[in-house]
Amino acid sequence: MRKYLPEIIIGFIPVLIAFLIYIGLNVVPVLLMGVLGFAVVYAARSRGKMTALPRQQGRSNAKMTPFTFEQIGGQERAKQELVEALDFLVHQERIAKLGIRPLKGILLSGPPGTGKTLLAKAAAQYTDSIYLAASGSEFVEMYVGVGAGRVRDLFKEARTKANKAGKSSAVIFIDEIDVIGGKRDGGQQREYDQTLNQLLTEMDGIHANESPRILLIAATNRKEMLDSALLRPGRFDRQIEVDLPDKKGRLHILNIHANNKPIAEDVNLDRIASESFGFSGAQLESVMNEAAIYALRFEDDMISERHLTMAIDKVMMGEKTDRESTKEERERVALHELGHAIMAELVRPGSVSQVALSPRGKALGYVRHNPQADQYLYTKPFLNEQIMIALSGAAAEEMFYGDRSTGSRGDFEQSINIVKTLVESGLTDLGIVDSSMMTKEAWAHINRSILDELMVQTKTLLEQKRDVFTKSLETLLLEETLSGEHFRRLLKAHTAA
Ligand code: ATP
Repeated sequence: MRKYLPEIIIGFIPVLIAFLIYIGLNVVPVLLMGVLGFAVVYAARSRGKMTALPRQQGRSNAKMTPFTFEQIGGQERAKQELVEALDFLVHQERIAKLGIRPLKGILLSGPPGTGKTLLAKAAAQYTDSIYLAASGSEFVEMYVGVGAGRVRDLFKEARTKANKAGKSSAVIFIDEIDVIGGKRDGGQQREYDQTLNQLLTEMDGIHANESPRILLIAATNRKEMLDSALLRPGRFDRQIEVDLPDKKGRLHILNIHANNKPIAEDVNLDRIASESFGFSGAQLESVMNEAAIYALRFEDDMISERHLTMAIDKVMMGEKTDRESTKEERERVALHELGHAIMAELVRPGSVSQVALSPRGKALGYVRHNPQADQYLYTKPFLNEQIMIALSGAAAEEMFYGDRSTGSRGDFEQSINIVKTLVESGLTDLGIVDSSMMTKEAWAHINRSILDELMVQTKTLLEQKRDVFTKSLETLLLEETLSGEHFRRLLKAHTAA
């Protein structure tokens, strides 16, 4: 019965119209509405098909730009896990003999710019497959059914291209899968649901003995947002974390991107790798590129340490700006930055690498800290000190002006994020709590109590160094940038005095 539903509807409509005319009703407006509705749906569908075409033509194909795992820095564990999974595809007979179910999907999750796209490209190369890439946002349309149509077209295209190229497999890479694969909310977003359903259907249609074999690789920065239907076994069978690189990984990535650039002999990439803690692969690539641009700007033939240091500052804080500030503003910024630097030296001696007054990105001044060893666990005292360093800019302004300025906004944001970490790690007086159950009032209360107490401690410590502020201010205003050593000399001299 369901099978013949369209035919039944088509047959029923003329009968209904004839009946309405027979009983004397004016059917013209209804007919016009029907024709209009049909035209809108038809236009939307054909638009979906038409717009899909240029994108498909533009999709990158691994055949054109071979990319191997050797060209990916760090990520050793992710690469190893991925290769193990891909061997399912490479050694198909052995896998079939053991009766292992074919691998249908691999999910790469991790922060932006960590090399997920590169891993997918290398996977296509490793398995000698056709590579097709799309982004979740390409499937988002206002009209119901268009996204689902695009998913269908993508799988069809992969099969056709693989057949044409004589390949036995195809890798489809979908970036930002969370856009279409987010948790379904039961009816409001029908378009998204249909697109996701289509993707699930296509994945279910992947069989061990089909040729070409399709492997879906998807990437996301927000795995927790994904619908559980996507994550169950038989769909994305392998889930691989692609984390920010550690120091060894960062050095490897820097070396890869230094390969095609003239680097001066005295450059110590190991130091650059230490200084760039928390950088993603994309940021490290940008550091090398910006350093080369600085070399060009200063008409140097080689990239030197100076260029690389400037490039790190630029990637971390943004480009230097020409913002002219008034004398009063500069003085306030200088005291604010001295506050950060003095507090950093008090709680972590030797940690300041530079105090600068030059405006960069959104900041009017900044303090750069020496790299610490890669650290993934933090204790409560460490996080408290971190908050005190962040609050010390505002504390210094209060000490000298009796008020604060908008310059502390970023510092407060950082402090509040640290409080969040403290709460979620059970490191506050609240004990072990489920933070999702906490009310806004409870959050406001815990933020206030922690930050107020640390602000008092910060001010007490800084007050003891009032002389250092007044005596270093002029030097900083004059020189604009103080190296860590220079600042520590001032701190020592004025403390002793
Ligand atoms: P997003 O989640 O934002 O899509 P992604 O994780 O897919 O990011 P990629 O597109 O793979 O990141 O990386 C962006 C660029 O950063 C690459 O083109 C490359 O130049 C550089 N890069 C990132 N990670 C690495 C790495 N591990 N080794 C070498 N280069 C890297």
